Amino acid sequence: MKIDLHNHSYYSDGVLSPTEVVNLAKQEGCDIFSLTDHDTTDGLLEAQKQADEVGLKLVHGVEISAMWSNMTIHILGLNVDINNPIFQAGLKQHQDFRQLRAEKMARGLGGAGVFSALEKVKVVAKKGMITRTHFAQMLIQEGVCKDMRSVFKRFLTGKKPGGVGGQWAQFDEVIGWIHAAGGKAVLAHPLRYRMTNTKIKRLLSHLSGAGLDGVEVVTGSSSKDEITLVSQWATQFDLLVSSGSDYHGWPNQRTRIGRLHDMPNVNQTVWKDW
Ligand code: AMP
Ligand code: MN
Ligand code: MN
Ligand code: MN
Repeated sequence: MKIDLHNHSYYSDGVLSPTEVVNLAKQEGCDIFSLTDHDTTDGLLEAQKQADEVGLKLVHGVEISAMWSNMTIHILGLNVDINNPIFQAGLKQHQDFRQLRAEKMARGLGGAGVFSALEKVKVVAKKGMITRTHFAQMLIQEGVCKDMRSVFKRFLTGKKPGGVGGQWAQFDEVIGWIHAAGGKAVLAHPLRYRMTNTKIKRLLSHLSGAGLDGVEVVTGSSSKDEITLVSQWATQFDLLVSSGSDYHGWPNQRTRIGRLHDMPNVNQTVWKDW
């Protein structure tokens, strides 16, 4: 079985349309596939239409930003009912914060000599949802920075000109939205937060206590050792395991849809009942 439960379209910070992403998943031979844009489910209508067209099993998903201990983490909501009002009201809150944050970021960048940043970033963001990736793309286009890595470091984090702290909902609230919509809450890419292993285990223990269902064990950039490590944590904290590439389609991103290492804990997968 080929499973990929973490992917982006241009409804958030991916490059391709939902139709194109679904076509790629089908081409790669995915059996179960999920579109998980940041804080929005708006791309799923188009994705579902195309999935029906080509005969692909599409799981309705989302990747929600959340606060834990003053840090931003990402929680995937998988197999959600996108019509649930509690869930959508939560996402709306984050969409509103993204607009406000974009204005603040643009002001900060103005202070650093990058003018009309808000207008420029709106041209880059195809569907009105503004992410830091769009700011990064805009700053590279403007010749301010040469690549993604340096632009995040120099402009978009911490106390840098375009750095604005996350004011996302707390992790337990986000898990509540996902559960209200009947979905599974899965911690995305646990090794991508700047945390020591001790701290990640504290995070997993804390989230598990708040009802987290699973953890992403296999991601597009995972090594075999990393997969073994996270899969042991999943067992330790009694969590289901998930697998997803985090495909965005950026030219410099090597990740491909559906090209993932095997899952070790085959008996406790998040998709076992789907
Ligand atoms: P946001 O949710 O708007 O804060 O944007 C976060 C997104 O920016 C992540 O989902 C990544 O796709 C991207 N991102 C964050 N940090 C980096 C980085 N250092 N290099 C490239 N992309 C990054
Ligand atoms: Mn992203
Ligand atoms: Mn993420
Ligand atoms: Mn992602």
